[in-house]
Amino acid sequence: MKKSILLWLRWKHLIPENISFDTPTAAPPIPLSYGAFVTQENRAGMDNLFVSSHPLVKHKLTLLRDVGTDHRTFRELVRELALLLCYEATQDIKISPKTVTTPMAEAHGSKADEKIGLVPIMRAGMGLLEGVMELLPDVQVWHIGLYRDEKTLRPVQYYNKLPTEATVQVCIVLDPMLATGGSATATIDILKQWGVMRIKYLGLLAAPEGVAALHKAHPDVPVHVAELDSHLNEIGYIIPGLGDAGDRMFGT
Ligand code: URA
Repeated sequence: MKKSILLWLRWKHLIPENISFDTPTAAPPIPLSYGAFVTQENRAGMDNLFVSSHPLVKHKLTLLRDVGTDHRTFRELVRELALLLCYEATQDIKISPKTVTTPMAEAHGSKADEKIGLVPIMRAGMGLLEGVMELLPDVQVWHIGLYRDEKTLRPVQYYNKLPTEATVQVCIVLDPMLATGGSATATIDILKQWGVMRIKYLGLLAAPEGVAALHKAHPDVPVHVAELDSHLNEIGYIIPGLGDAGDRMFGT
């Protein structure tokens, strides 16, 4: 019942004075954008997590997860999801005023001002590159090769050709699966040593364990994903996840 109706009933002495309007105190609701698996307990360390709430992202992610989705469709969905997530992740890119002449008059507009670098973590990060570059055609792309040691689950670097001085102001690290957070953390360590301090992570799925690990190492790095999943299994795969993102992209 609305509070105004209750006040009127009380004023008319139709209900006793001691009836309180206060709703029982409950834990604050969890924002939908935190993903379906977030509880009050595992929310800690997720301040910088941005889970897309866009209906198209949800729709495409569901198709992507499906074991029946073929490699070609999988790659196309990854490209589309990367584009949509990049749109959300670049909301705070700095702009400066720019005036152009339309066929009718002068128009005062804006131009994106920051030098952006994309850093796909090989190999699965490469799948996100195409969609992101459709939105950001003038970016620099820097490759960092890391593989996950199957026994230790720790990242091992095998490729890094960054020049000595940082050539960009913002880096977007691309890796579809934030599982243990090891590769993302190691890549961001490298980028910070390179001199880039504004770094974002863009992926498709995250496990709470990966988000917490990345947040602990780099609390300043926002994480943009399509969904936060339940947990990691004993061999470091995201559950329910989508399987091995690289294998599904490249048909291996
Ligand atoms: N990498 C993948 O490709 N899938 C997972 O579930 C975890 C890491």
